[in-house]
Amino acid sequence: MHPKVENLYADIVVPLALRPLTFAIAPDMADLFAVGSGVEVPIGNKIYTGIIKRIHTVRPPYKKIREVMGVVRSEPLASAEQLALWKWIADYYMCTEGEVMRAALPSLLKPSAATDDLFAERVFSLGEVQYLSLAPSLRSEEALSEALDALLPRRKARYAAMMEFFEVAGTDRLDAEVPRKALAASTPIVNHLIEDGLLVSTLYERTPQHYFASLQRRRSLSEAQQQALDKLHSELARHNTVLLHGVTGSGKTELYISLAAQALEEGRSVLYLVPELALTEHLIGRLSEAFEGDLTVYHSHLTPRARTEVYIKLSRSEGGHIVVGTRSAVLLPLANLGLVIVDEEHDRSYKQEDCAPRFSARDTAVWMASNLGAKTVLGSATPSLESFQNARIGKYGYVPLGERYGEGQLPWVMISDTIRSAKRGERRGHINKELADEIGAAIAEGRQVMLFQNRRGFAPYIECPDCGWSGRCPKCGVTLTFYKSDRKMRCNLCGYTSTAPTKCPSCHTAEPQPQGFGTEKIEEAVQELFPTARVSRLDGDTASSGGRMRSIINSFESGQTDILVGTTLITKGFDFEGVSVVGVLNADNLLSRPDFRADERTFQTLVQIAGRAGRKDDRGRTIIQTSQPENTTIRQAARGDYYAMFCSQMRDREAFGYPPFARLVVLSLKYNSYDLLLHGARRLASRLKELIGPEAVTDAHIPPVGRTAENFFMEIVVRIERGRSPSEVKSLIREALVEFARDKVVRRIAVAVNVDPQ
Ligand code: ADP
Ligand code: ZN
Ligand code: ZN
Repeated sequence: MHPKVENLYADIVVPLALRPLTFAIAPDMADLFAVGSGVEVPIGNKIYTGIIKRIHTVRPPYKKIREVMGVVRSEPLASAEQLALWKWIADYYMCTEGEVMRAALPSLLKPSAATDDLFAERVFSLGEVQYLSLAPSLRSEEALSEALDALLPRRKARYAAMMEFFEVAGTDRLDAEVPRKALAASTPIVNHLIEDGLLVSTLYERTPQHYFASLQRRRSLSEAQQQALDKLHSELARHNTVLLHGVTGSGKTELYISLAAQALEEGRSVLYLVPELALTEHLIGRLSEAFEGDLTVYHSHLTPRARTEVYIKLSRSEGGHIVVGTRSAVLLPLANLGLVIVDEEHDRSYKQEDCAPRFSARDTAVWMASNLGAKTVLGSATPSLESFQNARIGKYGYVPLGERYGEGQLPWVMISDTIRSAKRGERRGHINKELADEIGAAIAEGRQVMLFQNRRGFAPYIECPDCGWSGRCPKCGVTLTFYKSDRKMRCNLCGYTSTAPTKCPSCHTAEPQPQGFGTEKIEEAVQELFPTARVSRLDGDTASSGGRMRSIINSFESGQTDILVGTTLITKGFDFEGVSVVGVLNADNLLSRPDFRADERTFQTLVQIAGRAGRKDDRGRTIIQTSQPENTTIRQAARGDYYAMFCSQMRDREAFGYPPFARLVVLSLKYNSYDLLLHGARRLASRLKELIGPEAVTDAHIPPVGRTAENFFMEIVVRIERGRSPSEVKSLIREALVEFARDKVVRRIAVAVNVDPQ
């Protein structure tokens, strides 16, 4: 038994949906603990790993105070900056610091299984970088070609690795030193090349001079890029956050590299965020090359062990690292942060929606950077309305980059009317004659084609085959979701419901039909139209295995397939040089999402898709098929007119009270009995109306996906008008939720809170 001296306490963040809890620290253990220490604590009859947030002498008002049991690791698991960030995320996104901790810490660090010696041995050679150069005996073209000729017949992989080495080495291939990590070749292959005396390996201390060297080796910028870079510098001097608005193919990556190199030279860290699917070998290769292979990659598909190693490596470091990663990377310990880059800042994968913490990595990064005296660059060809608006009102700096790198021109875009085409009998297998002609011509020239069909992830709707009419909510303006079972159309935002018409209310001739056809069907149809073409398909089904996805992409990249049919999965991060024609099978699908952002997203998707066509030398062609050829958003996308889209969308957003003119908080309720769920949801909605105001809270309504096998769902939307304090409204929501959780009956209903839904 410890002697009880009741004067030292620790507030501890525990990995649960609970607020930090206070525990006592036994006097003989006091020396072991500090803020950020990982400790074991008893909760109920279980033991959890928690993190010390604060150590103090204020006795909490509980009767029985339990003691911290022990320390998990001698090193702190979280820095003071991280703890402050967790607190901000918890307050802003209405979750607990424990839930943020759960997302931030790799799983191996959470249970007490992680011990110091597991990692002590594997100290990352933090200060060292491995370089490869040609063996001195081979530094003449003759000796070299002899050695390579000897390699080629039997050692194909080693030969390929040598070729890769030369590719990275560039013109001074006889003398170049290439960072090991810039090569994709496997370690055994590289080791063979070293053993066989072809390559020499040298370890260098990593010093800022190395970045300077890499700056020398950096690609030279075009005039437009250089101007944009100068402007970035001057805007960053005046603003914490700058929006880089550069058209597709303008070479934003090179600008990010310049800025990152500068921050690294100053010994500061750089966080480079990319959307979920954009973390391609292409990008990692380019960044490894630019940063001498000293690049840390972090995303949720790494093994727990790899994630843990990255986390520990960074938490031991004093800065000077560049980390490229997806949204969870914003939660890494990054000492001495200097710059955050958020590429494709409009991308919705930056927001975590399915479980707490439901945070936006972009917005969190902006907050974190300005809190730590670092800068943020948001980049996109199609910025979110929120970011563009922030730039317009001077909250963010703004840097435009309006031309493509090199000779590249923006693609030529044509809108093709599906209804007219069908009436003329010019439509076969969902493909209009205009698109079919372009595909045929491209294939005849040996060029490639990409076709987009977005089937996945949105609710069905009905559309008139004659005039293109589809049901819209009179209050919210969004497309109504079609429910086949009772033939009803419902608004997913306000709950408005009406019966699906059997005759089109607009043209009074045809019966509106449920819409939606998938990529698989398109693949079949295309193959039928072009029997000799080699067609492949990339969508959520085929991409579920990383290896399969890579092989589909590789074979398209190397020209082994002619036509790639896919979902918008393929809009991100790929640069296929052979593609001259891009087709969008049905843009109506994009527009018809039951979501107030549908038009903005449609514009973004279409412009990004069009951007895939014809990079480098020639002008690509994009054909957008739609039943609404006069649709404003589609026309704006075809012209690539961001500003026009921005203005018309801002008018709608203002009229209907949507972001950026208001903030939304969505409460989702889930339970296995519909009656109790309905009762609880109605009660919560009416309490929220009482507390916040009837105008600001919708009635409880059924979301687009209203039930699963086990559960029913209901939703309530709270709208925080401009001029009202968001934190005040959030505390009223918290109050209602606390009351809700006290009620013995309705407390069984699970309530999830989503702030700033995407
Ligand atoms: P963005 O992200 O703006 O769409 P990227 O950064 O992907 O554009 O650049 C488009 C293409 O142009 C890429 O293939 C890239 O390698 C090339 N590129 C851009 N800038 C340069 C440069 N300064 N030197 C050589 N190639 C460049
Ligand atoms: Zn509505
Ligand atoms: Zn009609």
